[in-house]
Amino acid sequence: MRLIFLGAPGSGKGTQAKRLAKKYGCEHISSGDLLRQAIRDRTPLGLKAQHFMNAGELVPDDVVLGMIKEELTKTYRCFIFDGFPRTGAQAEGLDKILDELGMRISMVISLEVSDALIIERLAFRRLCSKCGHEYNLKTRLPKSENICDFCNGELQQRHDDDADIVKNRLLVYHEKTKPIEDFYRSRGLLVEIDGSKNIDDVFDAITKVVDNGK
Ligand code: AMP
Repeated sequence: MRLIFLGAPGSGKGTQAKRLAKKYGCEHISSGDLLRQAIRDRTPLGLKAQHFMNAGELVPDDVVLGMIKEELTKTYRCFIFDGFPRTGAQAEGLDKILDELGMRISMVISLEVSDALIIERLAFRRLCSKCGHEYNLKTRLPKSENICDFCNGELQQRHDDDADIVKNRLLVYHEKTKPIEDFYRSRGLLVEIDGSKNIDDVFDAITKVVDNGK
């Protein structure tokens, strides 16, 4: 199984991709997580990416494609992309990389969520500073205020979940990422799923299409 998750920031891609990866024993490849790790490790890649991410802009295609190519040389049997590709050039670049490796994408799942709900979800999103577990101050509260249920880490808001940066991330999403749905639709790979429901319902809808091969 080689899947791509498409959807706006805050559409639930990360949550669902992680859960699906666990269920099917696949590798979860989040471009955002890889870039944040590179920033924490102060690698040359992290240094190139940091100011784009802080502004809610996309990191340049060649930088992201280089990072993904390196990741795929780890020869994963099955994988789920989360947050990649985000532009037409990345989608085409991914095709080339997969061709070289003799692989193909089996399905592209697009999580459909309105902008209004995205803005609300991201305003209330908090992440554990230690283990990264995700909470929502309205719908998924921790047992103790601001403390992670699993590791006692402190909860924090992601810098780019700030309201002004979210507006920019949504603009970038509509302009650059949404159009690549057509690229995959024309190949019969795209499946659209309502991502506005609760996490379990969305997960059930996803596993149904994955198990049926659509
Ligand atoms: P995410 O965690 O997927 O919301 O990504 C956070 C930020 O990382 C984005 O706003 C971009 O700045 C950067 N980023 C993640 N994935 C990509 C990608 N495929 N292409 C360009 N920039 C990316």
